[in-house]
Amino acid sequence: MLEQLKKEVCRMNIALKENGLVTMTSGNVSGRDLKCPGYIVIKPSGVVYDVMSPKDMVVVDMKGRVVEGRYKPSVDTISHLVVYRARKDLGGIVHTHSNFATSFALLGKPLAVCMTAQADEFGGMIPVTRYASPLPFEDVGNAIVETLGRKELPGVLLKKHGVFTFGPSPAAAVKAAVMIEDIAKTCWLAMQNGKLKALPDKEVKKWFYRYHEIYGQKR
Ligand SMILES: [Zn+2]
Repeated sequence: MLEQLKKEVCRMNIALKENGLVTMTSGNVSGRDLKCPGYIVIKPSGVVYDVMSPKDMVVVDMKGRVVEGRYKPSVDTISHLVVYRARKDLGGIVHTHSNFATSFALLGKPLAVCMTAQADEFGGMIPVTRYASPLPFEDVGNAIVETLGRKELPGVLLKKHGVFTFGPSPAAAVKAAVMIEDIAKTCWLAMQNGKLKALPDKEVKKWFYRYHEIYGQKR
């Protein structure tokens, strides 16, 4: 079942490695087909990226029961499910410990909008959740949902832990993970030479408008 989604979720998990967002077997991407919302497809636990193929992806129902797949699903499956249950619009979730974004998470510092690329892409800051414990299993997902609420945030920094990003598809969530890491890296580099200052809100709105309404080739 969900063969197309398995291919996309597999391809996007490999994209985490290609973009330097993960080491060894850390990180994971899941996807949900909004036309078949009772299931998600997620990376198997502890399988290396280099040998991963679509048939290795695991299908679980919304309670986390394995419906299809020869492997155990990612240990973060419950975190993904808690967010999917709260946000019916999401079709993709990514979790990484990408270095620069996670360094902000360790300090409990949100990514304020200090550079125009962040204003373009996201139009706002990337917040930090409260600290979440691995047990009970739902705590990480609950911390994310408390911060996310109904807001259309592309991602959150999980305090002391890493990054979760979201989107209408696995590809959109991976794009957000790549962009957040790139922005965090640039901000971190700037911080080596001085104090960062956020752009005023009205400037953030202008950049966001230009990027979303004028930039690129509209079809
Ligand atoms: Zn993690």
